[in-house]
Amino acid sequence: MELDEQGRKLLSLLVSRLDSATPGRPDTYIGYKECHELLDLPQMREKWGESLKPQGLNSLAEWTVANNLPAITGLIINRLSNEPGPGYFSLFGKQKNPYEWWENEIRKSRSHDWSDYIEECVELNPSDIEVPNNRSDMVVSRIIRDSALSQRVKRLNNYECQICGLSIQVSKKRRYVEAHHIMPLGSPHNGPDVIENMICVCPNHHAMLDYGAIAIDVRKLRKSHGHSISNVFVEHHNENIYGPNMANEEGEG
Ligand SMILES: [Zn+2]
Repeated sequence: MELDEQGRKLLSLLVSRLDSATPGRPDTYIGYKECHELLDLPQMREKWGESLKPQGLNSLAEWTVANNLPAITGLIINRLSNEPGPGYFSLFGKQKNPYEWWENEIRKSRSHDWSDYIEECVELNPSDIEVPNNRSDMVVSRIIRDSALSQRVKRLNNYECQICGLSIQVSKKRRYVEAHHIMPLGSPHNGPDVIENMICVCPNHHAMLDYGAIAIDVRKLRKSHGHSISNVFVEHHNENIYGPNMANEEGEG
């Protein structure tokens, strides 16, 4: 049995989240609604769990059963109950001690090598990437994290830098780009963690933005469907991060 495209996309998303999931701690898993947002899926039924079923959930779950693979769909939960839908347990025939079995399937999912089944690009965990110490003196603090939002920005921009179009192919199946908060999070800028304040960039352009080495010209940015950048944050960058930096350089002449 072949996994269909929607099932494959959902699997790619789940695999990218395995590193941050702690077996037995559903609050570290992923919500049905979140899956829709991250994969840009429409809400087809009133309940998010029901809506995900025809959009990859059923095909992925049935495929794991048919191939005797770990039941990775247990990573998707209802955020209110902190549990997967009842269909998860019934599909796998687990009515007795389902919680123990569920936790174990997540553990098995984490140690399983899924790379053969994933064709789509998946995220690298930013904690794998070394940040040199000499960047710690940056005036602009960058909070490195791989929030659901930054994953979304990267996906919406097809893992390509919005300034130059570059993306780094780090392996056959993985491309690497970064998400930058235009008005930085944290003091003194206190920018918001919203998609309108984010831009998908290559590491070079990320450093240039962090240091205020370049201004942002919204008209020249590569645009993507579903991701619009707000002018308020761009102006903040140009006036408060790029502007003072350029003024200093001239002064030192
Ligand atoms: Zn770039």
